Amino acid sequence: MMVSNLQPLGKILISGCFLGQRVRYNGEIKPLINELLTLWQQQGRLISICPEVISGLPVPRPAAEINLVSGKVITVDGSDVTEKFNQGAQQALKLCQQHNIEFALLKESSPSCGSTTIYDGTFSQQKISGAGVTTKLLRQHGIKVYSEDSITALAEQIKASDQTS
Ligand code: SF4
Repeated sequence: MMVSNLQPLGKILISGCFLGQRVRYNGEIKPLINELLTLWQQQGRLISICPEVISGLPVPRPAAEINLVSGKVITVDGSDVTEKFNQGAQQALKLCQQHNIEFALLKESSPSCGSTTIYDGTFSQQKISGAGVTTKLLRQHGIKVYSEDSITALAEQIKASDQTS
């Protein structure tokens, strides 16, 4: 018997700022211009979120970094926003679970979305190896997180996943 492939294409969680949403801490827009992204958008695969804004943080908002000693997320003016960042991460996870999302494309170096680097917590523009709060939570639940720097690798994974679904 012929079985038609009516499986919908797998969704991808994406940082809202990549789509030009005004969600960044400094209020500026910074869309990611990339043909893969355009294709995925046309295919209706993208589910966007800004973990920081969905948690109730405003735009603009003070820059925040993860303190390497305490593990807390602290703003440049000294406020502890760890709870907000955790809430945003939980919202992102919930969205992934609702849409059976296996892959995420998140902005590198952000204290929420970074996947290979983050700032070192001293607000001195120094980056270190590490991941943001949302990325860590998603990975704990088996979601594979990529950044703008690894978008080609993500495309390969998605292609392979499409072929097996
Ligand atoms: Fe972009 Fe993530 Fe920062 Fe929101 S939290 S502005 S989605 S990098």
